[in-house]
Amino acid sequence: MTNVPELFGSMVFNDAAMRERLPKETYRALRKTVEDGKDLDLGIANAVAHAMKEWAMGHGVTHFTHWFQPMTGTTAEKHDSFISPAPGGKVIMEFSGKELIKGEPDASSFPSGGLRATFEARGYTAWDPTSYAFIKDGILCIPTAFCSYGGEALDKKTPLLRSMETLSEQALRILRLFGNTKAKRVLSTVGPEQEYFLIDREMYEKRRDLKYCNRTLFGAKPPKGQELDDHYFGSIRPRVSAFMKELDEELWKLGVLAKTKHNEVAPAQHELAPVFTTTNIATDHNQLTMEVMKRIAYKHGLACLLHEKPFAGVNGSGKHNNWSITTDTGENLLNPTDEPHGNLQFLLFLCAVVKAVDEYQDLLRVSVASAGNDHRLGANEAPPAIISMFLGDELTEVLESIETDSDYTDKKKCDMEMGVHVLPNFQKDTTDRNRTSPFAFTGNKFEFRMLGSSQSIAGPNIILNTIVAEALGQFANRLEKGDCFKQDVLTLVKDTVQQHKRIIFNGNNYSAEWEAEAQKRGLLNLKSTADCLPYFISEKNIDLFTRHHIFTKTEIFSRYEITLEGYCKTLNIEALTMLQMSKKSIIPAVSAYTGELAESALAKKQLGADTSVEEQLVKDLSAQLTCFLQAVDTLDSALIEVKQYEDVAECARYYREHVFAAMQELRGISDTMETFVSKKCWPWPTYGDLLFSV
Ligand code: ADP
Ligand code: MG
Repeated sequence: MTNVPELFGSMVFNDAAMRERLPKETYRALRKTVEDGKDLDLGIANAVAHAMKEWAMGHGVTHFTHWFQPMTGTTAEKHDSFISPAPGGKVIMEFSGKELIKGEPDASSFPSGGLRATFEARGYTAWDPTSYAFIKDGILCIPTAFCSYGGEALDKKTPLLRSMETLSEQALRILRLFGNTKAKRVLSTVGPEQEYFLIDREMYEKRRDLKYCNRTLFGAKPPKGQELDDHYFGSIRPRVSAFMKELDEELWKLGVLAKTKHNEVAPAQHELAPVFTTTNIATDHNQLTMEVMKRIAYKHGLACLLHEKPFAGVNGSGKHNNWSITTDTGENLLNPTDEPHGNLQFLLFLCAVVKAVDEYQDLLRVSVASAGNDHRLGANEAPPAIISMFLGDELTEVLESIETDSDYTDKKKCDMEMGVHVLPNFQKDTTDRNRTSPFAFTGNKFEFRMLGSSQSIAGPNIILNTIVAEALGQFANRLEKGDCFKQDVLTLVKDTVQQHKRIIFNGNNYSAEWEAEAQKRGLLNLKSTADCLPYFISEKNIDLFTRHHIFTKTEIFSRYEITLEGYCKTLNIEALTMLQMSKKSIIPAVSAYTGELAESALAKKQLGADTSVEEQLVKDLSAQLTCFLQAVDTLDSALIEVKQYEDVAECARYYREHVFAAMQELRGISDTMETFVSKKCWPWPTYGDLLFSV
């Protein structure tokens, strides 16, 4: 049996490893640096580097890498060995503090938006001592932030760390007003639930769309999909189970708190959820989780699909971002307690989130925008593209009673003296679940459910941290000036509810009525990446980011460009793949099959047999093939036409409106033809083969 406690973190240079291997003084100085967010002294860095190298070499490691998270949304690494020339033609194994703290990878081939033109190609990676180094595939990986020569962030980690700092700063102002003098930092915490598909590797290899685009671009619906709901939470099949077991163990070795695993709604779909942790580490761990999933799947003869919509007509995959804020002393600030004073504080933090989500709906939407996620949002399986919040009946009533100065006394106790409406002891289960809300309060945290399965969670958490910090900052500005604190807080809560209650919706978000209602309420409904990205560079949002030092204006524009460019490139690759599959495989396959039919009809005719079936099929398929060829032409022309557009936003819009439409049209015809062509002639495994392959 696996000794899990022993296994856990065995590949991580964690606190225990540091305490054991570092001189006491160095260890203490390092802890202080991490806790206080101070700059690292080179002497300490040298000592840490040495201990890290010795520890890694003890595990057979010969190379190290600065592991970072460029704007591609994945992770990057470049391996350097520890060797250093020594007299007599020999080498020694060396790793200095300087090498630990700073790396200089060439930044020129990573997406940098407008930054590339104006700045040198050189980039720097800087050690993030708040995330532990670890060994992956025999390489010592040092989590780092990545920036340009001019100091512009080129990665997802830098702004995430910045957003955590601003959140801490603003939340502390509020806590001080409540008389909390103990907390030194406030941290946001995240537990991301990761969905994925597993299919047989051999079948995967036969599909060029999956290999190039991570999703199927053609494929008729199989007779059986997810309609029986027999897969959700179903017993896990042996091959999948073996995969999950090894995945857990590998993740545990890396210190990832893999906790829950189960089958999801669609056939071949599964989920993994870790225990939540600090946002920064949760982000690193989620990136690692996705990477390890793919690797272990490969080992088991499987392919792990992380795309948001690998199969049309079947549920796609998302990532639920469970988010909360907590003090360094362990107090969850979104935990409603039954203690009145604490409740007032809770109400204020709750209201900060309400205000933030309402005022920055656009940014939350932008933070989950991608070509892949466009297939899910608003498609009756994932939350709609409209941002709203679910608070549940009880909390909504509490807020309403404050707003209208009415009593909440009938149902719950209250603190008469202060007129504070006491919250019920709000255990998770006292309110029903709302599975349809994009942003749901779930007991002591919020669950942001719009994230795509393949995306880094950094982006959405940068936004969450920043917008809540902004709301808290505005609250603090107001309360610090007031003279009757408790009354001021109540008034603030009341004002906030009045101004922002339009964002609260506890009903069915999937219904058509909600879409109409949301429009009446003036909520945004940004359906695609092309629709929402322009909001990212609005004056209001530039002002937010620059004031909180999350992004400079240059960084904002560079990210805007990178995201839109990424969107265009993704659609371009998909369209080209479709054209290739059409010309090289689908057309020849249908033509060959109709040829076969025609031949057999001719042969049958000589015997005087009835050939009406063959003749009809040949006619139908030939007519469809003609349409198909026209659709190929249309897509081809759309790809030529798009080259005219120089502005990246216009280009994205064209892809969305014309290229994507042409792709859909092409697919539709192919999928119909597929249902008539014999299995042996069809060039690749069908949906049925793929979805029920494991
Ligand atoms: P569910 O019933 O939706 O599965 P869980 O309580 O199991 O809810 O939590 C789902 C995810 O939320 C897990 O990853 C869990 O660790 C995470 N989570 C729980 N509490 C918090 C918190 N305070 N902050 C962030 N994430 C949390
Ligand atoms: Mg969930």
